[in-house]
Amino acid sequence: MTVTSSPPRDTDAHYKVWDVAGYADVPRETKARLFEQVKGDLRFGDYLYGCYECGICVGACPSAKFYDFSPRRIAQAAAREDVDLIYQQMQEDIWDCSQCFSCVRCPRGNNPGGIVTIMREVAVRNGLASAKEALVGYTRIIYKIMSTGTQVSPDMLSKDSFPDWGPETADVADNLDLWRRALPPETMHTTTTGWSVAESTLIELYLIWMETGALDMIAEVDPGLHTILLELMEERLEEAGFEV
Ligand code: SF4
Ligand code: SF4
Repeated sequence: MTVTSSPPRDTDAHYKVWDVAGYADVPRETKARLFEQVKGDLRFGDYLYGCYECGICVGACPSAKFYDFSPRRIAQAAAREDVDLIYQQMQEDIWDCSQCFSCVRCPRGNNPGGIVTIMREVAVRNGLASAKEALVGYTRIIYKIMSTGTQVSPDMLSKDSFPDWGPETADVADNLDLWRRALPPETMHTTTTGWSVAESTLIELYLIWMETGALDMIAEVDPGLHTILLELMEERLEEAGFEV
């Protein structure tokens, strides 16, 4: 089937025909394998009990107000085990969720935001193009948090490194001295870190990230960053007396 223009998005049927057509080149086995990973996650059974299609989650969802995104579609696709639609959602929709979990007011007991969390993790672990694209603007944040155990400080802001943070990022970066003089909050005055992290805490964090596979997830989406972090963590762990 050839689709030449953007179809209406007012029904799930239109949505499905258009978007699945966009991933017709991806083998069904690949899509099914990814869904098996989502379904195989220990949390999945607690996040999905079926769907009344009531739309209460959509009414509560802030992302649904601003994007072509619906937690109901996430829950329904998972409940129907529609691997084509789930693959499309993993390449597109899941990155529009703000992970606020307002959707847990679902009368069926579902947690569509939680399903999105699992889908994101599977997308990252498998190096899906959408995951690489979604995380490209966060390389410096990931590096900062995973190397120092703390947050990004204002002096790290630049519009090139954080393209999806909006025009205010460039304004803050270009006029940081002015912002510092104008605003009293302590965080605007930091130059290196948001707060100090104890050495023992940092070592614990390194061990957690290595043991849980959180560090390995980065290997698929940014091998260079993974190598840098791995070397840094191994060195610090060895200094602390751990055999890596
Ligand atoms: S967690 Fe995601 S899906 Fe749920 S309400 Fe928040 S933005 Fe919407
Ligand atoms: S609130 Fe729950 S039951 Fe209702 S549409 Fe959303 S996921 Fe389905």
